[in-house]
Amino acid sequence: MGVSIGIDVGGTYIKGVLLKNEEVEKKVSIPSPKGEINALIDSIIEVASALSQKERLPVGVGIASPYLYDSGEMVTPPNLPFNGRLPIRDLLQERLGRPIVVDNDANVAAFGEWRLGAGRGSRVMLCLTLGTGVGGGVVANGGLFRGAHGMAAEFGHITVDPAGPLCGCGNRGCLETMASATALKRIYCQLIEGGGRLAENPTPEEIFNMAKEGDPFAEKAFETVGESLGIGITSLVNSFDPDTVVIGGGLSNAWSVLWPTVRSEMEKRLLAQKYREVEINPAKLGSWGGAVGAACLALES
Ligand SMILES: [Zn+2]
Repeated sequence: MGVSIGIDVGGTYIKGVLLKNEEVEKKVSIPSPKGEINALIDSIIEVASALSQKERLPVGVGIASPYLYDSGEMVTPPNLPFNGRLPIRDLLQERLGRPIVVDNDANVAAFGEWRLGAGRGSRVMLCLTLGTGVGGGVVANGGLFRGAHGMAAEFGHITVDPAGPLCGCGNRGCLETMASATALKRIYCQLIEGGGRLAENPTPEEIFNMAKEGDPFAEKAFETVGESLGIGITSLVNSFDPDTVVIGGGLSNAWSVLWPTVRSEMEKRLLAQKYREVEINPAKLGSWGGAVGAACLALES
């Protein structure tokens, strides 16, 4: 309970919510400025001011970047106009005139699902966000598990196939290159080219609709993504022994098509499965979940 501001800073949009007693009271979204980091910081301040003029409200920020939690620095974000290390927390605190909490965007999304979404009441919860890339978060024993440097749970970069496609991080066959919305599209296009049809350029949502209508290429693309996702989730469940795994991001809308393959991979691979009770559920908070999670985190800090 309480009132707070949460802001989710992504490569495309900056989204903010005013959260009051666990309900979203106000939403603001503006496009992320390209080109200059100062413009991005200005825009974050603009969103905070548009949500509330009250100077004492706690503020939480989720940022699409690897983030060193202790020092409050973001490092080499792939989709923001900056390279290197930036003390983003201190810069924002100075502008806002109050202490704030900053964390990686996938971490705040995981925290939101744990407090108010599909992971409520969980003791150990993993969250995977399947969007353009793949993000991860772990909530264990009442709080985020951040690792020794604040960079834990980069699930998008666990290796699923060492001979797989090249990832933005420089490695091959990361989960992100095999089980994101981007991967689904690439796999579908490869399949139709191999099947003698001209490569189209469908959105993941269109591929989902084709799969539901029984299109064999679309079905196969989802099966391929589901296999990699099942292999990835099995490794994570073997590592963390969660009671709940929450699947968020754009691809989670297609969960009904992905789930049968994910389940069969897990049944093939998971250790000591009859002794585990793991629920695997799509996320509940939708595309504002990151902002809601950042607001929840601000209240707890
Ligand atoms: Zn990678």
